[in-house]
Formats: sequence, structure tokens, C-alpha cells
Amino acid sequence: MSFIEISHLRKSFGPSTVVHDFNLSIDKGEFVSFLGPSGCGKTTILRMIAGFEKATSGSIRVGGSEMTNLPPAKRNVGMVFQAYALFPNLTVAGNIGFGLKIAGKERGEIDARVAEMLELIKLPDLGGRYPYQLSGGQQQRVALARALAVKPQVLLLDEPLSALDAKIRVSLREEIRALQRELGITTVFVTHDQEEALSISDRIVVMNQGHADQVGTPSEIYNNPATRFVASFVGTLNLFEARVVDPAAGRVSIDGQPVVTRRDISAFGIADEAMVALRPEALTLGGGDDDRNTLTGTVEEVAFLGAVIRVRVRLREARVSLDIFNDPALELPKIGMPAVVSFKKEDLLIIAPS
Ligand code: ATP
Repeated sequence: MSFIEISHLRKSFGPSTVVHDFNLSIDKGEFVSFLGPSGCGKTTILRMIAGFEKATSGSIRVGGSEMTNLPPAKRNVGMVFQAYALFPNLTVAGNIGFGLKIAGKERGEIDARVAEMLELIKLPDLGGRYPYQLSGGQQQRVALARALAVKPQVLLLDEPLSALDAKIRVSLREEIRALQRELGITTVFVTHDQEEALSISDRIVVMNQGHADQVGTPSEIYNNPATRFVASFVGTLNLFEARVVDPAAGRVSIDGQPVVTRRDISAFGIADEAMVALRPEALTLGGGDDDRNTLTGTVEEVAFLGAVIRVRVRLREARVSLDIFNDPALELPKIGMPAVVSFKKEDLLIIAPS
């Protein structure tokens, strides 16, 4: 049995159901992210695990014990919110020790634990400061220490990085992951940022309108999106309605041009429509051979993005975007130039209809 078992969880607010029959098992020590657009129900599920929100039906078990109707204080769960949730009138040490004080721990034990937590978040000298004297990144580290001080069995993180600027966001997410691994604490992390979810998680739950569209490792989600929603939400993707020409041989046509996929399309019939996808980094300008498909068109736009240059090619009706690595020696494609785009047959993804 898994450490966290969520079964048939449902949540309605009045007439509107925002979480539908949600099921998920999480192993001890796992780092799982809920990824999805605003309003898809990620936070509501997290709040039901924490006990801040009551489930309409279904159950949540942690470590074999039924949690569904326990008050938050009885769940032994630590939570970090988006931002600025520290108590402004308490020092850093006071914030970190708060949960222990409420639990009636002795002064000496609280002080020792606070010092240990300050070391853990690499702010050993800042215990006497107040939250307003800290940067946003430091405040979130203190919030993390406060959540961990009570030795929770589960750590819940609700977009803890989203209010920070880009550089701090990346360094703090790496620190959170390192710390989580070191402590081995089972963690659920909510984000709408696909790069964040891909980089930090053991598994990702892609949420769409109150249910999980796909649950998988970052590479499963990125390389084999199960639905059109997952394909378009995770990664920048070229999506096409293709026409199946020969299901047994994997032959389809994109915008009237014949291509071959190595993915199994034997369930489709001749002339069926199939949603197919190509990732920009799987495409090359020029260069078809026996193992590579080609599509021909005209360069429509060239955008310099720093590490890569994104080129948009117009086929007949459809458009395809591809990335080429920046190289100062490279001559950039020019708008209006004829272009051949090539890609490996295994890189033509087939998306199941949703
Ligand atoms: P975000 O990233 O914007 O927080 P989310 O995926 O976490 O989005 P939730 O906060 O879980 O989404 O909200 C899911 C849906 O439930 C939304 O449509 C929201 O308006 C609704 N909702 C959340 N809390 C309440 C509430 N207390 N009363 C009524 N509706 C609510």
C-alpha cells in the first residue's frame, strides 16, 4: 500500500463540482507535483489533504490512517503557501518555533530545533530578524523551516515560488528538492509552471478541469503526452490534425504532405483524423533521409531567443515552429526563404483523442 492514498475524492462548492473522482497513490519519500492552469482544482486538492477544505466525498489516507475528516492540527502535515504567510509580529525564530510552542514543547527543545532548522535553510544568523527584514526568497525558506520544524509526515507546497523573481525561483526550487531528498519527506507541490514541475518532480499529475489527465514521470509526460490537453500544456508543441493513410505502415499526411510515424497507429482506420504533435527541438531545418520525414514550406518568422532561435515555417495551411541552437557562425534563415523541415519518424507523436 502507498503512503498517501486518495480515493474517489470529490469537491463541490454549491452547485459547481471543482474536483471530480480524483484518485492518486503517492509513495513514501516521493515528490509529486500537481500541474495545471489556474482554476483546475490543484489548490483545492492540496487543501483537502491539509484539512483546510472538507471533501464532499471520497477519502484520503496517510500512512494507513483515515484523514478525511480530521481537523488540520491532527494531520501532522506541513504546508507552505504562495507568499507572505509568515507572522509579521514574530521573529524568524518565533515563526519557526511557532508550531512547537503550540504543541506545548519545552523551551530548550524548541530552541534546539529552531537552530537546527536555521542551519538546514542556510540562514543560521537570521533568527532574530523580523519577516519584513528578509528578502522574498529568505521568507519562503523560513516558511519552509516553519512547516518542517514539527516533523510533519507530509509536506504540502502551494506555489511557494511563484511570487519570487526568476533567478531566485530556480535556485530555491533546487534547494527545496535537495532538502526534500535529504529528509526523505513525502511532498506534494502545486504549480502552474511546467518547467518547474518537470525539473523538480518524481511524478507529475497533469490536472485539467478537476481531474487528472495524466500521471507520470517528467519524461513520460513530456515525451508521451496522453491527451491533447497534456500535449499543449506541457511543452511548446506543434499540433496538427493529420489524416491516416496506412495504419499498418504508420503513414499519415500532415497538411497534404506524406510522413511516417514509428508510433503505433494500428487502431486507426484509413482516412481517419489523428491528432499528431512535433516538439520544436525535434525538428531540423533541412536534411531528410530514409530515417527522417520532411515537410516543405516557407520561412515565415525568425525569433532570436538567446540560447535558441525559433523559426516558424508555413507549410500549405499549417505552420510549424522549430528551434535551432544559437551559434555565432550560423547564418540565420531569412523570412520568405523556401524551407525543408525534417524530423525522425519516432518523433512524430500521436495524441489519443480526448
Ligand atoms: P490557482 O492556480 O488559480 O490557484 P487552482 O488550480 O489551484 O488554481 P483552485 O484554487 O483549486 O484552482 O480552484 C478550483 C475551482 O474552485 C475554481 O474555479 C475556484 O473558483 C473554485 N473555488 C475554490 N475555492 C472556492 C470557494 N471557497 N468557494 C467557491 N469556489 C471555490
